[in-house]
Amino acid sequence: MREDNSFDRRAYLKGAGAAGLFALTGTAGCVGGSGGGGSGGGGGGSGGSSNQVVPGTAPGFPPFEMREGGEIVGFDVDLLSAVVAETDYQLGDWQAFEFDSLIPALTNDKIDAIAAAMTINEERNGTIDFSSPYYNADQSVLVRGGGSFSPSELQALSGHPVGAQEGTTGESQVKKLVENGTLQQSNYNSYGNYVLAVEDLTNGNIDAVVLDKPVAETFVEQRPVEIAFTVETSERYGFGMRTDDDDLTQALNRGLEAVRESGKYEEIRNEWFGSNSG
Ligand code: GLN
Repeated sequence: MREDNSFDRRAYLKGAGAAGLFALTGTAGCVGGSGGGGSGGGGGGSGGSSNQVVPGTAPGFPPFEMREGGEIVGFDVDLLSAVVAETDYQLGDWQAFEFDSLIPALTNDKIDAIAAAMTINEERNGTIDFSSPYYNADQSVLVRGGGSFSPSELQALSGHPVGAQEGTTGESQVKKLVENGTLQQSNYNSYGNYVLAVEDLTNGNIDAVVLDKPVAETFVEQRPVEIAFTVETSERYGFGMRTDDDDLTQALNRGLEAVRESGKYEEIRNEWFGSNSG
């Protein structure tokens, strides 16, 4: 994938080098912002006592969310900010968690909205509500670039150590392989963050990483890795909200529509993915 667009942040970040982008992945629980807590279970609606929305994410998933000079930046950060700006709500300070801890943080009122390239699925929908979808993704299998291991289907991972991030849909793909006997349990390596998984891949500790395609493509630009093949999972990302926060969910859905109509969505997408992205 080529990016010649001068507004393409992903290409820019590649130039900036791995150090800035991957130095801090924010994996140690809640590490960001003022610790201002959530709006308090169902509060925060229009006319309520607080209209602040405290956003939570899991940095280390470029270009959706990552740290740059201690600040959390990325597509999700810009998109949620633009969406909230279309509503009567105000965006609070970003809070960082491991991906696996985001839903508990939401249900425990530590945050009010998840913006973390989170796939809308039935299991999660049993616990939280999602906004309308805002981005599509499939799962890619990442291997070392130019290496001898170049699988073209999931079955070919058999006998190889494979990595994924805890609590993700990429992990679900790997777990399915373990369940159907393709992969030994001992060959599944789980990580709190995909950055660590990709490091283990380049170090030769594991042979493949299963993760969302747009993020795999970003790692390809920054690390000596390549996409071996992609599994069409047709996932759609949504912002996550508490089930009793209907006012917020509806406001964010209207905000999403507004940023699509104004062209702001496309602007943000071009900035992080290049203008030729789908
Ligand atoms: N989209 C994937 C999921 O929802 C991965 C998200 C992530 O790692 N931030 O499980």
